[in-house]
Amino acid sequence: MSRKALVTGAGGFIGNHLVDYLKSEGYWVRGVDLHLPEFSKSTADEYIIADLRNYDACLETTIKMDEVYNLAADMGGIGYITEYLAPIARNNVLINAHMLEASRKNGIKKYFYSSSACIYPTNMQKESDLEPLKESDAYPALPEEGYGWEKLYTEKLCEYYQKDYGLQTRIARFHNVYGPLGTFEGGKEKAPAAICRKVSKAESGGYIDIWGDGLQTRSFMYIDDCIQGIYKIMQSEISVPLNLGMDNLVTIDEVTNIVIEISGKKLEKKYDISKPQGVRGRNSDNTKIKDLLGWSPSYPLKEGLRNTYIWIDSQTSQL
Ligand code: NAD
Repeated sequence: MSRKALVTGAGGFIGNHLVDYLKSEGYWVRGVDLHLPEFSKSTADEYIIADLRNYDACLETTIKMDEVYNLAADMGGIGYITEYLAPIARNNVLINAHMLEASRKNGIKKYFYSSSACIYPTNMQKESDLEPLKESDAYPALPEEGYGWEKLYTEKLCEYYQKDYGLQTRIARFHNVYGPLGTFEGGKEKAPAAICRKVSKAESGGYIDIWGDGLQTRSFMYIDDCIQGIYKIMQSEISVPLNLGMDNLVTIDEVTNIVIEISGKKLEKKYDISKPQGVRGRNSDNTKIKDLLGWSPSYPLKEGLRNTYIWIDSQTSQL
C-alpha cells in the first residue's frame, strides 16, 4: 500500500511543488491550506481547505496519515515579515503547536518542519561578505524579530516532542527559495521574484527600483533543490536541524544584473535605501548536510533565474 502524506501549506509555493514530487514518488497525498494553489491545479489526491490555527482542523487533517510535511506558515518577503510581528508570531505558533500535538495524537510516523535561516543571530549578519552560517551558530540566540523567534521556538518544540513522546521530527532551515509558481507581487514576494517582476514590467531604456543599496548579500536555492532536500532529510535518521540552502553568496545587484541580461532589456537601477533590506549578508554553511547526507543543493543560479523569469514574464503579460 502506498504511504500517506499530509502536506500543509499545499496551496503555497513550496507545498504545491512538494505535493507533485510526493505523488511522483508514489505517495497518496492530502493537501491542506487556507486556499487552493494560485497558479496551478493541485495534484493532491485530497485537498482540504482549513485554518490550521485551529486544533480541531489539525486533528482532522492528520487522521490516517503516515507522514506530515508541515509547510503552512504566515510568511512573506522582508517587507512583510518586518512589518507584522505579532500576527505572524501568533499565527505560526498556533499552527505549529497544534500540528505537533495533533500529529502525536494521530500516531504520525515522521514529521517535517520547515524552519528558516531567519533563526540565525542577526548580530552575526552585519557584513555582506560574512562567514557562512553553521547550524551551531543558532545559539546564543538572537533571531529575526517575530518570524525568526517563532521558527526557533518551534524547532525546540519539535525537539521536545521527539524527546518526550518519541515523535520522529525532521527539521530543515531553508535559505531563500525561489522558482516558478511562487508569489511575485502583492507584498509577500521574495527578492528574486520581485526583481523578475520589476524587470518584466519595465520598458527597455527605463529603470527599476532596488530595495537597499544592492550590495546586501544572500544565497538563493532553486525550488527543485529544496524539494529534493526536504525528501532526503525526511527519509534520513537525522533529527537535528540542518541547513537547506545554496552556499554561493551573491549581491542583490548581481541577481538583478543576471535577470536584466536574461530579459534582453536595457535597464538602469535606482536604489531606495529607505526600504527594508533585512540582515546585511547571509550564507549557508553546507558542511553538515554534505557530511550527513552526501548531498547539497547545486542548481545553477543563472538557470534557476532563467526559469523563474520566463514564468513570471508569462504571468505579468497576462495581467
Ligand atoms: P507560501 O506563503 O507560499 O506558503 C505557505 C502557505 O501556508 C500559504 O499557501 C498559506 O495560505 C498557508 N497558510 C498560512 N496560514 C495558514 C493557516 N492558518 N492554515 C492553513 N494554511 C495556512 O510560503 P512558502 O515559500 O511555500 O514557504 C513554505 C514554508 O517554508 C513556510 O513554513 C516558510 O516559513 C518556510 N520558509 C520558506 C522560505 C522561502 O524562501 N520560501 C525560506 C525559509 C522558510
